[in-house]
Amino acid sequence: MLEPAYQADVVVVGAGVAGLSAAHRLTSAGVTTMVLEAAHGVGGRMATEKIDGFRLDRVGQLLSTAYPELRQTPGLGGLVLRPFAPGVLLHGDGRHHRAGLQPGAGGARGALHAVRALASAPRPPSATRPPRRPVAVPGRQVSVPRSRSGAPLGTAVDQARLGAALTRLAGTPAERLLARPELPAGEALAARGLPARTIDGFLRPLLAALLCDPDLTTSSRCADLALRSFASGRLCVPEGGAEALPELLASTLPPGSVHTGVRVTSVSTTSVTTAEHGEIRCRAVLVATDARAAAELLPGLRVPDFHPVTVVHHTTDEPPATGASLLLDADLGGPVAHTAVVSRVDPSRAPAGRALVSSTVLGRPPGDVDTAVRMHLARLYGVSTARWETLAVRHTAEAVPAMRPPHDLRRPVRLLAGLYVCGDHRDTSTVQGALHSGHRASAAILADLGAGRSLHVADPVPTVPRAA
Ligand SMILES: Cc1cc2nc3c(=O)[nH]c(=O)nc-3n(C[C@H](O)[C@H](O)[C@H](O)COP(=O)(O)OP(=O)(O)OC[C@H]3O[C@@H](n4cnc5c(N)ncnc54)[C@H](O)[C@@H]3O)c2cc1C
Repeated sequence: MLEPAYQADVVVVGAGVAGLSAAHRLTSAGVTTMVLEAAHGVGGRMATEKIDGFRLDRVGQLLSTAYPELRQTPGLGGLVLRPFAPGVLLHGDGRHHRAGLQPGAGGARGALHAVRALASAPRPPSATRPPRRPVAVPGRQVSVPRSRSGAPLGTAVDQARLGAALTRLAGTPAERLLARPELPAGEALAARGLPARTIDGFLRPLLAALLCDPDLTTSSRCADLALRSFASGRLCVPEGGAEALPELLASTLPPGSVHTGVRVTSVSTTSVTTAEHGEIRCRAVLVATDARAAAELLPGLRVPDFHPVTVVHHTTDEPPATGASLLLDADLGGPVAHTAVVSRVDPSRAPAGRALVSSTVLGRPPGDVDTAVRMHLARLYGVSTARWETLAVRHTAEAVPAMRPPHDLRRPVRLLAGLYVCGDHRDTSTVQGALHSGHRASAAILADLGAGRSLHVADPVPTVPRAA
């Protein structure tokens, strides 16, 4: 049991990636740190379920190799990122089209791949052939039918303009993007001088997927940052599942630093109170929970709106022939925002002989989400999904804090001397934002407490076992 008199320099409340990365920076600077986590495992929203040899993430799939914090966070040196095929595969007008940057080719002038209609893309079976007009799904935008010529990205000139725009974006410093006027992303796109079909057929579905925001109400500055990450890196997943990232961070902390199954009920500048072990004294408290739990512990903190996200996992022994591509629907003709044969990207996620197909539904899901997703996937992949087996349907109502304008990407992490807060709700609502907020909070704590030296002689390591 945790001894009531136990002290640490800093107590971190919450073992998501924000709290764990902050704890790693603090312990590396010689500050004794205790992480208290209410759940029975670390990782928070980056959890991975193991079912029958499959590794099923609760989160969507879209990290970017260009997220600076994935490279800069100490403790993540051993992280293996599995990239998707370059760019994305768009499904539009019944065919597949590849679009995306060619990494490395021409350096900063990396050219946009010419859009290739994949003549080999199979037609869907007649029972699931797409309707002539996109299917309207409540709460989702339906695109107008486009001409087949050059769909969905338009003519070669349109594609060249898009390539130039993405290349410019990749080379623009983040500070300049953050100085641009701020609008809802959907409105800002219309003012970017790109053809309507490029916007509707490519940028809207891509941004919706990157931001988990089907209506594109997100701040245009956050949207620009997301597009910049897309243009300058590769979309990727952590090898072994999303949990690999928090597990790696937790494993680099001194043994006994992380205590799971411990819920914090109140905080002050010098102590926390837990439901299970009473009061724990310390010299500073870092609240690293999700936004709603943070507002409960720190009254006055704003609770944002959230974007709901549903992830549906299927398995089949006959995987569709889309390789390691991320597939988006340019027609917005069903509930799936993006989907991939994830076991092609990261083979460790499925047992031998089986394929794992993971699909993400944004916003409020339709009534029978699995049936609606299967029907949509049949059109997107051009195969029958009738024999696919459903492994899991995971809905998270408060998945991602909304980032509507005006959005402050650097919300204060220091509330008082001794009381700090981090998490994706203080930055951008992404893994990058969560890690960066942990970075900022640990820097503020070290500045206040005096960095680089142990602040007190640590008490004996507490004997609370870390639950599995
Ligand atoms: C379905 C879904 C899809 C997503 N897709 C993407 C994506 O494609 N790309 C991307 O970059 N990001 C995505 N995200 C967002 C990303 O997962 C989060 O931004 C990130 O994981 C947040 O980390 P965090 O440490 O800030 O918070 P969390 O992971 O929420 O961690 C907070 C921790 O605090 C604990 N806690 C809460 N209250 C208490 C208490 N009182 N006492 C002790 N512990 C407490 C919680 O149990 C939790 O473990 C997605 C999220 C979801 C849910």
